[in-house]
Amino acid sequence: MERLIIIGGGIIGLATALQASRQKVAREIIVLEKDPQTGGHQSSHNSGVLHCGLYYKPGSLKARLAVEGIRAMVDFCKEHDIPHDICGKIVLAVDESEVARLRDLQARGTANGLRGLQRLEGAAIQEIEPHAVGLAALRVPEEGIVDYAAVMRKMVELIRSAGHQVRTSAPALRIRTSGSQQIVSTPQEDIAADFVINCAGLHCDRVAKSAGLQPDSSIVPFRGDYWKLAPSGEHLVRHLIYPVPDPTLPFLGVHFTRMIGGGIEAGPNAVLAFKREGYQRTDFSLQDAWETLTFPGLYRFLKKYPGTTWSELRNSFSKVVFLKNLQRLIPDIRMEHISREGGSGVRAQAIHRDGSLLMDFSLEQKPGQIHLLNAPSPGATASLAIGNYLIAQMQGTSPNAC
Ligand SMILES: Cc1cc2nc3c(=O)[nH]c(=O)nc-3n(C[C@H](O)[C@H](O)[C@H](O)COP(=O)(O)OP(=O)(O)OC[C@H]3O[C@@H](n4cnc5c(N)ncnc54)[C@H](O)[C@@H]3O)c2cc1C
Repeated sequence: MERLIIIGGGIIGLATALQASRQKVAREIIVLEKDPQTGGHQSSHNSGVLHCGLYYKPGSLKARLAVEGIRAMVDFCKEHDIPHDICGKIVLAVDESEVARLRDLQARGTANGLRGLQRLEGAAIQEIEPHAVGLAALRVPEEGIVDYAAVMRKMVELIRSAGHQVRTSAPALRIRTSGSQQIVSTPQEDIAADFVINCAGLHCDRVAKSAGLQPDSSIVPFRGDYWKLAPSGEHLVRHLIYPVPDPTLPFLGVHFTRMIGGGIEAGPNAVLAFKREGYQRTDFSLQDAWETLTFPGLYRFLKKYPGTTWSELRNSFSKVVFLKNLQRLIPDIRMEHISREGGSGVRAQAIHRDGSLLMDFSLEQKPGQIHLLNAPSPGATASLAIGNYLIAQMQGTSPNAC
């Protein structure tokens, strides 16, 4: 192939370009990023965790690509000296219903091929996390933390040094097909390519529509706020402490994360947002809000999860409620231990027209184009495996080719 264009310079677009470059699938690869810098959205506003595939339905893309992806990501970090730490995590059950769900989670993890899962009770929990209190816990030794910003910097460097391009301030405005060519319009020029892969994250559905697709799902942004533990509270957390998640939602619940650059964060919650790239609680975009509010799937979603949606929205403004959530895992944590400095991220979560949240990664294809339409967590961990998967789909060699 002469030219491959990848839209979106987040970790998935960059990983896809890197894998395409390693496999020499095209003479020229161009990544188009709309912002002046790469990786400025989900890929740099996340928990920085390496997920090893615990949560996902066996056989799903998330399960397969997280398991493959964490191994590829850890190898990448080792090869390029990128800060990471496979420190392990615990998932903590604090009531009987969670104990039952923890068992299901362990079964899932085992089915997904995870190694070393260990059920803990009583004092065994405190041996690992002295301040965590629960009825039972699952220790997941393969998980860890990483510097995703450093991963992306290295990816850009490798793509460029292989002779390919990462262009910034280059938004893809429209894609049209002309014969066997895909023409991507940017404000600067029209670029012809043999194939286009859309990895535009929070805007992936808009890019797909600009190519004439009518996806069954739409991105509905869910903001996640983080709180920082003050130095006086850092002794409360050694590694990663997660709650047992609600299996009907793709969010993992507010957790404690030791960050690779130092410090501990608590979060993120999952709040319906009115701006796709809005990182403040009061951020609002008329266009984004209008699109969300006129999407019929939203109302069906709100009907299915009325309590969760409104309580998350209300609670996002309350430090007291956030603290109560944290105290479920670590009763010793106090108001003076947390501050709002933690920042936030916005998840590109696709919702189907019928109101269901897409639980798996999803993509749509048409000749000459692939559109990745749902790639939330564990998308950063799995990015190198997602890249390989997209290339295999492009070449028609993937076992799951659509
Ligand atoms: C709060 C939060 C916590 C998370 N925690 C984790 C975690 O701990 N571990 C994990 O593995 N995953 C985590 N995730 C998920 C992970 O961050 C995402 O799956 C991953 O970053 C998605 O990468 P991406 O490249 O698809 O999207 P993005 O990083 O959003 O990149 C998309 C890029 O496309 C660009 N773009 C958009 N439209 C256009 C256009 N028209 N033309 C050109 N460029 C365009 C954007 O500017 C952006 O740079 C988390 C996500 C969030 C929000």
